[in-house]
Amino acid sequence: MITSSEVIEALAQFRDSQLETWHTAKVNYDALTQCLRKNFTIGKFEGVMQYNPARKISTAAKVDKDSIRNRPCFLCKENRPEEQYAEEITEGWELLINPYPILPLHFTIAANRHIPQTQIPLDMATMAERLPGMVIFFNGARAGASAPDHLHCQAVMACELPLIQYLESGKPVEDLPFDVIYDKVTPDMKGMITLNSMVLLKGKDGVTGKEDAGLLNAYFWIAADGLLRIAVIPRKAHRPQSYTDTAEGDGMMVSPGAIDMAGLIVLPRKRDFDNLTSVEIEQIYHDTAW
Ligand SMILES: [Zn+2]
Repeated sequence: MITSSEVIEALAQFRDSQLETWHTAKVNYDALTQCLRKNFTIGKFEGVMQYNPARKISTAAKVDKDSIRNRPCFLCKENRPEEQYAEEITEGWELLINPYPILPLHFTIAANRHIPQTQIPLDMATMAERLPGMVIFFNGARAGASAPDHLHCQAVMACELPLIQYLESGKPVEDLPFDVIYDKVTPDMKGMITLNSMVLLKGKDGVTGKEDAGLLNAYFWIAADGLLRIAVIPRKAHRPQSYTDTAEGDGMMVSPGAIDMAGLIVLPRKRDFDNLTSVEIEQIYHDTAW
């Protein structure tokens, strides 16, 4: 069985070989080492804010149907930058480095077909088993996915996400600032039932009250006991009421996906990084999750 340190080393090599040949990615990974960070606390939950100007492209991405239809899909093989390598991670899925990283190891895992981001893929369990030490996460089509038309998930190191650390430490989910459905998947019939019911979970629109499989974030990882963990955050909305998509606009440029919900708030504007308070972050969670 492959260990987490072997996985991390292999993934770091994959990234480094990409950075040798792909200038844009190199610039963004280098910039990441200069990103400012500071902590915030909401009750027992401790998270981190990150000032990351390169993420503006993703935070302010237009994800309405017309904008998506009118752009070439950047996850389809024929439209990817020619520098980008792909590694089959499990059947039907390719591992790619994310050229706009939030963390030093940041991968996109894309389906090898152009099919929509409809529900949590069961294959995330296999990916988590193949990549111990990493957390595989999923942004629902209305909860942070910048390519809702092409099924994909992402992977970062599990130790980098405050929510995963919080859950691993055994602290109660009830003390988090939003609802989280959290379970352990055992390698037996009970585990199969848990897994199959978790991937069918839905969020609920805060305005219409309608259930929606696109309104959630999901996290799969192998915990220290070697067993799969799954956490799902049902969402109310993608963006908070205070959201703005312009550099000068009042309000905040924060557009929570799975990483932000997991306690790492990505802020492309310096003024938001300087001014955002824990109370405002709590409000962002309140606006976007249950
Ligand atoms: Zn595509």
